[in-house]
Amino acid sequence: MFAVSLPFSITAVDPASRARRGTMLTAHGRVETPVFMTVGTRATVTGLTPEDLRATGAQVLLGNTYHLMLRPGVELFERVGGIHKFMDWDRAVLTDSGGYQIFSLPGDRTITEEGARFRSYIDKRMHMLSPEQSIAVQTAIGSDIMMVLDVCLDSTSDEATTRAAMERTHRWALRSLAARTNDRQALFAIVQGGIVPALRKESAAFLTEHPFDGFAIGGLAVGDKRGEREEITSLAAALLPADKPRYLMGVGTPPDLLQAMLAGVDLFDCILPTHLAWQGTAFTSSGRVKITRAAYAHADVPLDEACLCVTCRTFSRAYLHHLLKCGEPLGPRLLSMHNLHHYQALMSDARAAIERGEYAAWAKAKLEAIDRHEHGATRLGRRLAPLSEEAADVVDVVDVRIGEVE
Ligand SMILES: [Zn+2]
Repeated sequence: MFAVSLPFSITAVDPASRARRGTMLTAHGRVETPVFMTVGTRATVTGLTPEDLRATGAQVLLGNTYHLMLRPGVELFERVGGIHKFMDWDRAVLTDSGGYQIFSLPGDRTITEEGARFRSYIDKRMHMLSPEQSIAVQTAIGSDIMMVLDVCLDSTSDEATTRAAMERTHRWALRSLAARTNDRQALFAIVQGGIVPALRKESAAFLTEHPFDGFAIGGLAVGDKRGEREEITSLAAALLPADKPRYLMGVGTPPDLLQAMLAGVDLFDCILPTHLAWQGTAFTSSGRVKITRAAYAHADVPLDEACLCVTCRTFSRAYLHHLLKCGEPLGPRLLSMHNLHHYQALMSDARAAIERGEYAAWAKAKLEAIDRHEHGATRLGRRLAPLSEEAADVVDVVDVRIGEVE
């Protein structure tokens, strides 16, 4: 048995909600929570250098075991001494276990009690990803927080299928725990159970009996509706121990983050800020902006007047519009930097609101403002049909995670 790998302390709790402010001490420095972790699936955030990432305020980078085991592979990480040296990132790294990719990627795969056997999309060879193998790969990658291999499935699956996947996830979690080889790398378990409250309760009760360093809520944003997602998140977060970090996996529109923080979630990740940047969409303090729209061709104003990022301090909407229209890689790069900065600023403001003891009221005002901007609510509070391009962008957000795994 290993000592606690991830000292975590709560420094403030919001009096009107379950939101909490904390710090997590990783092998690569202190992390202020609640935290949004930037997705860097293949040991990179497309188009951005580690220096760019630090400038956005990123505290944790999220790598992916499935993609990294196929390329560059375990031997490379063992030779260079892990992902931090390999990509020159000196802050914390969390690695996803690969369970989600096994579930969502098309192609040859067989999942048995032993693990998942699948064909590589790179060299077409067969590979095995078992709980033990996933821990071995994550150990070689050298992430500060490792995730157990879990069985993912569509959250609309029937109850018997959802139960079977949950029970196998529990057995795999214990095998992952037994496969750890050091106490520098923390290990999180993943609560499953789809959108069935009784199963979520059972999953949380089982996993919290074991010495994991933190607990994730998995299996959401895969077919569920926003209301179901919020209900399950709130239920599951309340069942997790107060003294360990709670991580909501892969769920992350700004309203998702604001709501989940109300429920006491500490860690988040989502591909949305970078994914939408590559499609020409920016998150701004006055709602989403689709920069390729003709209206911005001559807009000699910053992307977001209220933003302090390098993109907003340096360039105009017209220039960004031009770059995107020409297919110039600088365009998505500048939008990515802005969107990530926007997310980090949201989290930093949330942390400050929790410290002031005003989070619930602050989050409510923020949620109402986003709703007004993105759903075209009138001054009378009556909703209009979503006609704008921004509104249309909002609708397809839920399935973005599936589209991104490649
Ligand atoms: Zn900006």
